[in-house]
Amino acid sequence: MPSTYAGIGVSAGVAVGPVARVHGPVLPPRDGAPVDVTVETGRAVDAFEAVGGELEALASRAGASGAVLVRQARIARDPSLTALAGQLVSTGRAAPRAAWEAFAAYRDMRAADPMRAVPDRAELDDIRDRVVARLLGEPAPGIPDPGQPFVLVARDLSPAVTAGLDPHRVLGIVTERGGPTSHTAVLAKSLGIPAVVACPGVASLRSGQRVMVDGGVGEVTADPDSDTLGAAVPVPEPTAEVVQGPGRTRDGRPVRLLAAVGGVGDAGEALANGAEGVGVFRTEFAFLDRDEPPTVAEQSAAYREVFDAFGTREVTVRTLDIGADKPAPYVRLGDQPNPALGVRGLRVARRHVELLTDQLTAIAMASRGSKTPVRVMAPMVATTAEAAWFAAQCREHGIATAGVMVEVPAAALRAADMLRVVDFVSVGSNDLAQYTFATDRADGELADLLDPWQPAFLDLVATVLRAGAVAGRPVTVCGEAPSDPMLALVLVGLGAGALSMTARVLPDVRATLARHSYDDCVRYATAAVSADGPSEARARVRDALDRT
Ligand code: PEP
Ligand code: MG
Repeated sequence: MPSTYAGIGVSAGVAVGPVARVHGPVLPPRDGAPVDVTVETGRAVDAFEAVGGELEALASRAGASGAVLVRQARIARDPSLTALAGQLVSTGRAAPRAAWEAFAAYRDMRAADPMRAVPDRAELDDIRDRVVARLLGEPAPGIPDPGQPFVLVARDLSPAVTAGLDPHRVLGIVTERGGPTSHTAVLAKSLGIPAVVACPGVASLRSGQRVMVDGGVGEVTADPDSDTLGAAVPVPEPTAEVVQGPGRTRDGRPVRLLAAVGGVGDAGEALANGAEGVGVFRTEFAFLDRDEPPTVAEQSAAYREVFDAFGTREVTVRTLDIGADKPAPYVRLGDQPNPALGVRGLRVARRHVELLTDQLTAIAMASRGSKTPVRVMAPMVATTAEAAWFAAQCREHGIATAGVMVEVPAAALRAADMLRVVDFVSVGSNDLAQYTFATDRADGELADLLDPWQPAFLDLVATVLRAGAVAGRPVTVCGEAPSDPMLALVLVGLGAGALSMTARVLPDVRATLARHSYDDCVRYATAAVSADGPSEARARVRDALDRT
């Protein structure tokens, strides 16, 4: 009987292939018997040098995105780091333990040096793990290369690593940790790689072992037999009809169906699936792996490519949303006790206003002479004062349509005030759920609290939509919530006139919408918000659908 592991399916589809594990994290090595100082020092020096070479080789293969690796190679070869390891060996530590401790000492040393930037903790940890793994004779941490397509199994994956995955090589993704709306999940979905997160027990899967990943159901099966494989072949929905044209309800009420994109690479699928525009262009995804901030010219070129791809369809550009689970090496935010509640999104401009002004300059440059209607919005806005400041920055840069994302409950509660100072708002359902329920969206253990069917969440969305209707200003709902066709009906019933989602689900949502009238949607919305919890909300709407 094949063993099955249950997790949260975050990117639908079935993949079958051999496991390749992301190794690590490397555990702190224990110190053992007395050491031969000369031998251990030599081993440590060789390991640092070898890791420097390995990172350099990886950087040369990575091309433009290899800046982080170049920087890491430089650190691995920093003589002061090897000297620290040597000193620790001379006090009696074996090479692995000395290397481990040397990195902590190195970090402190760099933090105390006002002339040099403090290296990013994750980057430093990665070099340390490579050096220590080499000294212990263990496999190097990082994305494996087994020479054939594989199912990637990891404890967790960062958005930067996920963004770089090649869907031709990576058949499926399975992580022990991670939440349903984490940026890693969002990226896996946009790459079209079936993925299951928050899947305990998969640590016991062996490299090379055949597994089946069902990203719809949220299950991973080890050594699947032919019955299991046969049962997973998707049966086409009998009612799945293809509906073309702009989104509208059965009685003709327009609902703009927009795509979420991370760059021009996502445009093809969005347009093929009839996206009426871009609901959120996550600009940070284009530059996550950078050592230095992208120049105005680089940014402008990247934005113009997206505008040209969408032609006369509206594109809403979201300014950089860096911080929390999306660190970017070129923005040094330092250690924050709780990054999701810290300097993130628009708050980064408090420290580095030039990042925002450069970006607005680049957006204005890219839109000059373009036929694309461009709107610009800021992430992680909490107060009307922040919204007003952002709108003023946009206007100063010649950007006519400025808005903000409603991701923090404070912004939802004061949406009417926000709409007095900006031209539009967009509900970021992923973060609004995270901040409403004080639940980290990267934490799969608490996924029930992030459920967008939670009535309290729907109440806040309704507040924003009502404020939009009163002000006569547009409100979009974006994030993962509108990707659920049944919830999309509820959102329309609450008043949403525009929904943004992963391009892949646009046809499904369009077809569902076309089967229900606006009055039906209002009934579903009333049923959902009057429920006591998400299960009841779903059940009530399902019931109402059956009776329609
Ligand atoms: C959201 O929070 O819903 C959103 C669209 O932004 P992101 O997922 O990039 O944080
Ligand atoms: Mg967000």
